[in-house]
Amino acid sequence: MFADLPRYRSDQIWRAIHHEGLEADNWTALPASLRERIDHDLPCSLTAAMHSVSDAGDTIKFLWALEDGAKIESVLMLYPDRATVCISTQAGCAMGCSFCATGQAGFRRQLSVGEIVEQVVRARRAASELGRRLSNIVVMGMGEPLANETALWPAIERVHDEFQLSARHITVSTVGLVPGIDRLADRPLPVTLAVSLHAADNELRNKLIPINRRYPLDELIAACDRYLQRRRRRISFEWAMIDGVNDREEDAMRLADLAHRLSPSAHVNLIPLNSTPGYPVRGSSRNRIERFRAVLEAQRVTVTVRRNRGDDIDAACGQLAAGQPVTLSRKRSAFTS
Ligand code: SAH
Ligand code: SF4
Repeated sequence: MFADLPRYRSDQIWRAIHHEGLEADNWTALPASLRERIDHDLPCSLTAAMHSVSDAGDTIKFLWALEDGAKIESVLMLYPDRATVCISTQAGCAMGCSFCATGQAGFRRQLSVGEIVEQVVRARRAASELGRRLSNIVVMGMGEPLANETALWPAIERVHDEFQLSARHITVSTVGLVPGIDRLADRPLPVTLAVSLHAADNELRNKLIPINRRYPLDELIAACDRYLQRRRRRISFEWAMIDGVNDREEDAMRLADLAHRLSPSAHVNLIPLNSTPGYPVRGSSRNRIERFRAVLEAQRVTVTVRRNRGDDIDAACGQLAAGQPVTLSRKRSAFTS
């Protein structure tokens, strides 16, 4: 679009978008005539449809409308020591995991590089308006990132270079697409890998995560091992604690065995399941989570119990279902940008 401009100008524009935000008026380093032209020509792929802030004010969910009307969500989470944005890579998801609101909504389309990058740019701005610096990216929003590698990698490389984020502060979460994990090991950037396990035997995992039939646990763990051989970077296993389904002692013992098949052994993140309309089972109680954690720790597996961030605004893991008729939170406020 700006092909007629000298290289230093297009670099300046790119930098201005990232650092000054999307309003050309702020780009005082550029001549006024150019600012006007950019304002007119620049495609802006995300339009703010709504944003909501959690009770505690530390979780902000953005609902974005794309140019074709598709909707996606990103979530900014503020912690004392870091600010993390959770971004989407697809509108919807084709993987159909039974417990996930995005999966229940089905697949609409792949996001483009620009649509992925812009979620980070917008979150970075929102964080900076609150006096915070965006420090981490987790690719754990809507969609399966390794089913959209064509857009994912250029987007990750761009935000990594532009915002000087360390690769280890960028986490890609996958449902377990084995060929994608193998390619991940060959990418130049050593990002952190999280694998959504949720079950440590194929029978249960097939029920929760249909793609397990294509890439069953043995193949998945073998791919994680190949990744580790190349990267020497600890892998996380994500485990949504589902009441009476995967939170028994024997589940913890099997999970510990899988974690130890890797060296260094996998780190386990436990998070209570967030109930969704299509899978109204409850998340495990605090008591059961603590018992599960104790079994893992007795087996020398390192564990983090994560909070249900943004539950009150449907911004928690697996609750993202933009435009779907999920429970409307009274906390939501209309927002225009
Ligand atoms: N598709 C990728 C990344 C997006 S899902 C993946 O599956 O890893 C992000 C995380 O939310 C995954 O770990 C997923 O299993 C988890 N998740 C999905 N639905 C959930 C729910 N209802 N409660 C808790 N976690 C959920
Ligand atoms: Fe897709 Fe991940 Fe949800 Fe499964 S859990 S349906 S892979 S977004």
